[in-house]
Amino acid sequence: DKAATAAVPLPAAEPKRYDTDFESLPGFEALRMQRATADLLGIASPFFRTHQQRAGALSRIDGREIVNFASYDYLGLNGHPAVAAAAKAAIDDYGTSVSASRLVAGERPFHAALERRLAEFHGVEDAVTFVSGHATNVAAIGQIMGPQDLVLHDALIHSSVITGTQLSGAQRRSFPHNDLDTLEALLAAERDRFKRVLVVVESLYSMDGDTIDLARLVAIKQRFGAWLMVDEAHGLGVLGRTGRGIAEASGIDPRQVDLWMGTLSKTLASCGGYIAGSGPLVEYLKLMASGFVYSVGLPPPMALAALTALELLIADDEGRVVRLQANSRHFLDRAKAAGLDTGLAEGHAIISIILGDSVKAVLLSNRLLERGINASPIVHPAVPEKSARLRCFITAEHSRDQIDRAIAILAEERDRLDREPSLLDRLGS
Ligand code: PMP
Repeated sequence: DKAATAAVPLPAAEPKRYDTDFESLPGFEALRMQRATADLLGIASPFFRTHQQRAGALSRIDGREIVNFASYDYLGLNGHPAVAAAAKAAIDDYGTSVSASRLVAGERPFHAALERRLAEFHGVEDAVTFVSGHATNVAAIGQIMGPQDLVLHDALIHSSVITGTQLSGAQRRSFPHNDLDTLEALLAAERDRFKRVLVVVESLYSMDGDTIDLARLVAIKQRFGAWLMVDEAHGLGVLGRTGRGIAEASGIDPRQVDLWMGTLSKTLASCGGYIAGSGPLVEYLKLMASGFVYSVGLPPPMALAALTALELLIADDEGRVVRLQANSRHFLDRAKAAGLDTGLAEGHAIISIILGDSVKAVLLSNRLLERGINASPIVHPAVPEKSARLRCFITAEHSRDQIDRAIAILAEERDRLDREPSLLDRLGS
C-alpha cells in the first residue's frame, strides 16, 4: 500500500555539489588577478587610503600632511564649528539614533524642519529624507516605477539609479551622455508603449564635471508626457549664483522638474539623501517607499548637521559659493594652460584629468601622493578604459597656491610618466 511504498528508503545518491564558496562569485577572481599584477609591478593600491583627520583641503595620510582633491566637501562645511556644535547638541538632546522608523516612533522635530528647509531651498512644495543618497534613488525609483513603465537615463547616470530601476521592474534604456536628440528619438519611438516614463539625469555629472541642458530637458519631458528626475548630488551648493543648483543656474522654475534628488553627504557635510517635489509625491513616498517605511529615520546628529550646513549655505556670509566657483574656474584654466586633458569639465568643482589608461591613472595618483597631493584615480569599470582619469574635487577651502602647485606637479609627473617605458613592457622584458 501507499504507506509501505513511502517508507522504502531511497537509494543513496551522490550528494549534489553546490557552489558555496564566496571566492567563486562573479568578478572576485578578476579582482584578485588585478591586485596580484599590481603587486608584481610594485604599484600600491590607491583605494582605501586612510585619512587620519578631517579630509578638507588639507588632510593627513600615512602621517604626512597632504593637499586633498579627493573629497566632496565642496563648501568646506564638514567640521565647521556651527555644524559640529549642532551635531553634538543633537546627541545631547536626542541621542545618536531615533531608534525606529519614522512612521512608528522615530519622528523628531528636526525631520520636518530639515525637510521644510530643503523644499524651500529647492523652491518646491515638500521633501522627504532617506538614510543615504544611494538609498534615496533606490527607494524612490523602486517605488514610483513599475513593470508597465520605462526609465530613460543618461549613460553616465549614478549606479543607484540603475539599481532602483531594477528593483521597480520597469524597462530601462540609456541614451548616450547628454545626447538629447537620442533621448527625443527614444521617446518618440517608445512613449506610447508604456504607462509612465521617467527621464533621469544628473545636474552635474560626478565623473566628468559637465552639466545638463535643463531648459531642453523640461521641454522634452513636457512634450512627451514624461516625468523628469534630476540628481543634484553634486549640484547643490555648487551650481547657480547662490548654490541652489541647476534650476538657478539655468533660470528655470524648479517646479518644472518632477523629482529633485539630493544627498546630505556632499555640500551638506552629513549623511543621508532626499527627494524634493510636489506634495502628493512626497506624501506617497513617505507612506509607500519601502526604503523609508521600513528603515530607521535620519539620526539626530546627521539631520542637525545637514540642517545647520544648509542654513550656512543659505546665509553664505563667508562667500563660500563664490569662492568655490572661482577656485573651480581657476583650476580648469590652469589645467588647460598646462596642457592637461580636462575632458568635458566646465569648471564646476569636479575636474577630471583624462589619462586614457588605468595603470597610468593609478601610477600618477601614487606619484602625486608621494609629492603631497591626493587625487583619486577613476579606472575601468567605473569609466571606460580609454577614459581612465584622475578626478579632482575643488572646494571653497583650497587656496590659489594649493591649486597652482597641484597643477604644476600634476603636469610634471604626467610628463615624467609619458617618457617612461610602459610598466607592462617592463614586466614582459
Ligand atoms: N547620486 C550621485 C550622482 C552620486 O554621485 C552619489 C554618491 N557619490 C549618490 C547619488 C549617492 O549618494 P550618497 O553617497 O550620499 O549615498
